[in-house]
Amino acid sequence: MTVGVLALQGCVDQHIEHLRQCGENSRRVRSPEDLEGLDRIILPGGESSTMLLLLKRSGLWEALKNFVKQKPAWGVCAGAILLAQEVENPSQDCLAALPIRAYRNFYGSQLESFTATVAINPLNKEISVDFIRAPKLELISDECEVLARYNKLPVLIKKDRTMVSAFHTELGSDSSLHRFFVGI
Ligand code: GLN
Repeated sequence: MTVGVLALQGCVDQHIEHLRQCGENSRRVRSPEDLEGLDRIILPGGESSTMLLLLKRSGLWEALKNFVKQKPAWGVCAGAILLAQEVENPSQDCLAALPIRAYRNFYGSQLESFTATVAINPLNKEISVDFIRAPKLELISDECEVLARYNKLPVLIKKDRTMVSAFHTELGSDSSLHRFFVGI
């Protein structure tokens, strides 16, 4: 299996290292050709509006839209915003890979970033995660599965093959959510 990591901007190398820890091959994705033969993809955290611009400029937008309709994708923070069906604060184009609404920068500014311990239902354990200018994620269909909550709000959501997290796990040493994703 080869796992792609969108590498136009943002937190890329840490995902590659976690995938290595899980024994998986990975490939940085910067052009439509890079998607060929991939089994799944991680859209990392960073700045979704910048990624959006670069996705459109590189010709990856349409190819990625098609890819995430067919293969598992995990969107982390900015990546979750890209995979959402609706984006607010402000609104911007998105891939509509799962029925959620993302409200950008809900958890505060860069300086208000924080680490929290969150119980991840399918892992049966708590892990330490980072909220960095994270979005509020709202379900707009009850077909979405909430895999974790923080302060009662959904922060890890899955529907079929698509998963989104408002938080980052790749900054720490625990690869268990990466292992869960490669098992989807
Ligand atoms: N606030 C950023 C955005 O709107 C996301 C931040 C992150 O990915 N850590 O894209």
